[in-house]
Amino acid sequence: MARSTRTACALATLALTVSGGAASSSPETTTTAARAASVGGPPVTRVLAVSIDGLRPSVINQLGRAGTPTLHRLIRQGASTLNARTEREMTVTLPNHTGMVTGRPIVASRGGHGVTWNDDRRQPPTVQSAAGHDVSSVFRVVHRADRSTALFASKTKFSLFERSWDAAINKMRIRLDNAALTRATRRDLLAHNRGFTFLHLSAPDSAGHTHGWRSRAYLRAVRATDRRLGQIVQTINEHGRLRNHLVLMVTADHGGTGRDHGDATRLVNYRIPFLVWGPTVARGTDLYGLNPDYANPGRRRTSYSDTRQPVRNGDVANVALDLLGLGPVRGSEHDRAQDLDWN
Ligand SMILES: [Zn+2]
Repeated sequence: MARSTRTACALATLALTVSGGAASSSPETTTTAARAASVGGPPVTRVLAVSIDGLRPSVINQLGRAGTPTLHRLIRQGASTLNARTEREMTVTLPNHTGMVTGRPIVASRGGHGVTWNDDRRQPPTVQSAAGHDVSSVFRVVHRADRSTALFASKTKFSLFERSWDAAINKMRIRLDNAALTRATRRDLLAHNRGFTFLHLSAPDSAGHTHGWRSRAYLRAVRATDRRLGQIVQTINEHGRLRNHLVLMVTADHGGTGRDHGDATRLVNYRIPFLVWGPTVARGTDLYGLNPDYANPGRRRTSYSDTRQPVRNGDVANVALDLLGLGPVRGSEHDRAQDLDWN
């Protein structure tokens, strides 16, 4: 479809969204169907979000298409930026992943999810107890829409999510072996028609901590992770029910430098990639180019009070729900208006 036609359809879709209102889910479903039709594809009914722990975007350029063919393919065929942002407050794993699934910033006193720790502690036992009130998540919204969800994680601290949204996560698998976890995810994608699946791959972060973010071991881990992502893309492409209905998102919780990533004021830690790929996604486009309401922050550490926000890893929840035709996570802040567009 010609770009001008597509834009006109996108505007029509937008009008439908506004007139349909935000509360009910049925007009939103219509919106997604209309949007899918507007770009000539069937409706998106499934989302797979992949977080690559410690993936510094510069390494994608450094390794090039030869070293990271899958990430390059997703960029070439999808909508992406290599200049997205983590949560502003912290550049560590558990707080950022909690942001991805809740759409909230971190600091509880300003509406954040309150998960400020990054280990296996059992106190507070849940995200809700950390925040001091109920905290919803993408899992809960999808589950309440009668769709199933799954979480595949390669660090044990993710058990926090199971304790927090037990009823809404239909399948939870924690396995440190990234290759085995990828196989389990591929099997699950084929065996179940889930609305939302989250996969966390830890290998780059582990190599970074042990050998450094500039080490050969880190580069090796990123190449291996790209291959695993490639296996997932292969599974999707081989099966029409996935290829025609599933959108894949890829992001990271933080970058890294030296053997750490804890300093939230450093560009190398807070700059991360954000990639969207699949049916209805504009091919080979830059997310900032598609979204003039968002601002490419350059090298800046952004603030939540900036008028135009950067693309954030915390947008995962509401972009996923928007793709599925569902309204935003209650209490969320990142992409709450679900105006981050992918086509
Ligand atoms: Zn780490």
